Amino acid sequence: MINFTQLVLASHNAGKLKELQAMLGDSVQLRSIGEFSTVEPEETGLSFVENAILKARNAARISGLPALADDSGLAVDFLGGAPGIYSARYADGKGDAANNAKLLDALKDVPQAERGAQFVCVLALVRHADDPLPILCEGLWHGRILMAASGEHGFGYDPLFWVPERDCSSAELSPSDKNQISHRARAMDLLRQRLGLK
Ligand code: IMP
Repeated sequence: MINFTQLVLASHNAGKLKELQAMLGDSVQLRSIGEFSTVEPEETGLSFVENAILKARNAARISGLPALADDSGLAVDFLGGAPGIYSARYADGKGDAANNAKLLDALKDVPQAERGAQFVCVLALVRHADDPLPILCEGLWHGRILMAASGEHGFGYDPLFWVPERDCSSAELSPSDKNQISHRARAMDLLRQRLGLK
């Protein structure tokens, strides 16, 4: 059960705040870390969990409020989980198109059966900056990396991610459909349960 009505979200991304607020419901108000600071912490962890906790602690320290952080990315089986926590900067910060081109190249000649992958989202909630027991919720979305990009919606690796339950790419799903079944939706569902909100 929760005893707070506000959470600071460790993200400057207004779209992410809106999406997570919609998933969380209206009994807890999400505020942006941007209200308190423009500086982002260095993500020095080696795992999604470490980076999510690091960002949540930083946001709680700066704001004095309980804080929620998410860390997400794409983990490809054939590549030992890469690009993983480096998903956003896989092609050295050159953007989504370059990231997708690099991934297709890394999987050149790899047959369909070996192209398994998952989108990962870890949510970390700390009640205060030194909380020894962060609430951690993980959402995995299993699929496969296509041989070529397909679809116009979404962002990041969506055009390359084949969604078995819909038999299309993640970029071919409507945003509202994706938000029902994605890694973020799954992690948020668990968080709502942990907070007694459902
Ligand atoms: P962030 O945690 O939102 O910054 O996401 C890290 C990176 O992972 C993004 O820049 C994308 O490259 C990738 N990623 C995370 N979630 C998704 C998704 O839902 N679709 C496509 N790419 C994603």
